[in-house]
Amino acid sequence: MAERESMQYDVVVVGAGPSGLSAAIRIKQLAAEQAHEVSVCVLEKGSEVGAHILSGAVLEPRALNELLPDWQARNAPLNTPAQQDRFLYLTRNRAWSLPTPPQMHNGGNYIVSLGNVCRWLAQQAESLGVEIYPGFAAAEVLFHTDGRVKGVATGDLGIGRDGTRTDRYQPGMELHATQTLFAEGCRGSLTKTLVERFRLREAADPQTYGIGLKELWEVDPSQHRPGLVVHTIGWPLSADTYGGSFLYHLENNQVAVGFVVGLDYRNPHLSPFEEFQRFKTHPAIRTTLEGGRRTCYGARALSEGGWQSIPRLTFPGGLLIGDTAGFLNVPKIKGTHTAMKSGMTAAEAVFDHLRAGTGPEVTDYPHRLRRTWVWDELYRVRNIRPSFRWGLFGALAYSALDTYLLRGKAPWTLHHHPDHTQLKRASECPPIAYPKPDGKLSFDRLSSVFVSNTNHEEDQLSHLRLKDPSVPVRVNLALYDAPEQRYCPAGVYEIVRDADGRSPRLQINAQNCVHCKTCDIKDPTQNIDWVVPEGGGGPNYPNM
Ligand SMILES: Cc1cc2nc3c(=O)[nH]c(=O)nc-3n(C[C@H](O)[C@H](O)[C@H](O)COP(=O)(O)OP(=O)(O)OC[C@H]3O[C@@H](n4cnc5c(N)ncnc54)[C@H](O)[C@@H]3O)c2cc1C
Ligand code: SF4
Repeated sequence: MAERESMQYDVVVVGAGPSGLSAAIRIKQLAAEQAHEVSVCVLEKGSEVGAHILSGAVLEPRALNELLPDWQARNAPLNTPAQQDRFLYLTRNRAWSLPTPPQMHNGGNYIVSLGNVCRWLAQQAESLGVEIYPGFAAAEVLFHTDGRVKGVATGDLGIGRDGTRTDRYQPGMELHATQTLFAEGCRGSLTKTLVERFRLREAADPQTYGIGLKELWEVDPSQHRPGLVVHTIGWPLSADTYGGSFLYHLENNQVAVGFVVGLDYRNPHLSPFEEFQRFKTHPAIRTTLEGGRRTCYGARALSEGGWQSIPRLTFPGGLLIGDTAGFLNVPKIKGTHTAMKSGMTAAEAVFDHLRAGTGPEVTDYPHRLRRTWVWDELYRVRNIRPSFRWGLFGALAYSALDTYLLRGKAPWTLHHHPDHTQLKRASECPPIAYPKPDGKLSFDRLSSVFVSNTNHEEDQLSHLRLKDPSVPVRVNLALYDAPEQRYCPAGVYEIVRDADGRSPRLQINAQNCVHCKTCDIKDPTQNIDWVVPEGGGGPNYPNM
């Protein structure tokens, strides 16, 4: 193995999303205030900050107000105040207006491109002296001999498909730190290894997830209502599948349209991608999009487990912040403000810890977090998502009771099951016939991946690893009709056969992967391991 170079920092942050950047900014603010130098470096696997950020997004500015109260003067890209909320229940041809639940009132919030907000946060961080390295994927956690986290190593470049070095070969870099902050977002790949090694989930419920698919449209100006926020439930999903849609009218005639499906869905014939495509053809939705143009597509998993799924947050030498720990508020469909606040709280605890030099683990971070509004907010809504086990109507009734009568203080907590255990056998479930895409409102996967600007160096080891190569056919195809062909929003997994229709095998088109992490979550036997590809690979979202 070639010798890797190393660099030493006080703090290394893995991931330049809202949580990682907020943490980096807060540490540097404290360092400046207290004249105590702290070196901070942020690694980002996207080709630039924001390239892998996909969100709705309606931003609740609470954490931002605390972090950078003068964000307006600093020209933060929060240009569209939310003006009006609509909450619709859809049947095949009709839309019924429902009262907007209190958590979904967006007065005081802003419709943003979270990718652009992150680009702006990165500028603020750099102006405070944070070093940010986009295009560098943290591929491995490093440990001291006593078991403390020592830092991370970026992946080697130029390891060909067959595992041998190509002429592009460059060994990875080691980044050593007193504390490493993991801010990888939902289902972080290094976080997954840390959860196992330090048994961080021992006292928590399993994390649960949804897949969010999103398109950005430039609509006919006559259809554009800047500041309008629309959410729908119901059609095309059946009442036993959790999910719904969003339409956010941003600036410049843009509308973000998206669809979320809970990954605890049971019918292996279901395709979140196709549900999204047919959703757009509903009469209440199509009028907004008709005559417009789709400019971007992408997908990303989101953490839905909430309060009862928060793992242990610290371990010797490091800690978890943001969605990789799982601070998303599901009834609000918002995780940015909580991700930022967790990063800021961790930063304050880390800064004091570095100054005091007290032991390897920042045990004060979870205590401090419990005293913030994040904890209270997540605690109050903890039973809403798991109540969907009673179907859409049971959950709506329970949520009304929990919110209005019990005010989130029910003397019980509903629990979660891991999503990958929820699929039924294909033979027990009705097949779903999806309409063919029309190329105007609805599209196929490949033309969609095209507008996600996804790109990976072709000659590299696949970043989608199968623990047992026989499972896709022996188990997944035999029992579940190969569900990875449908849940992957980028057409990465394909069952191919010989000309005579025999010898089925799984073909993995890894270069199409948009890094949503759904396969790592939903594969029924957890046989798929998503690891980072070469840094800079993946989608290049301009403003998602
Ligand atoms: C479809 C959808 C709609 C949403 N709508 C809203 C909304 O309207 N309002 C709201 O507040 N929230 C919304 N959310 C949630 C919100 O986007 C997240 O809660 C928030 O982005 C979490 O921030 P984070 O910093 O924890 O992670 P992320 O934003 O996911 O950022 C993580 C960053 O780390 C990088 N990274 C990951 N692993 C590595 C690695 N090993 N090495 C280097 N870099 C790495 C990633 O590339 C990424 O840039 C939505 C989410 C989705 C998917
Ligand atoms: S391969 Fe996995 S992570 Fe990549 S797009 Fe498909 S489901 Fe998402």
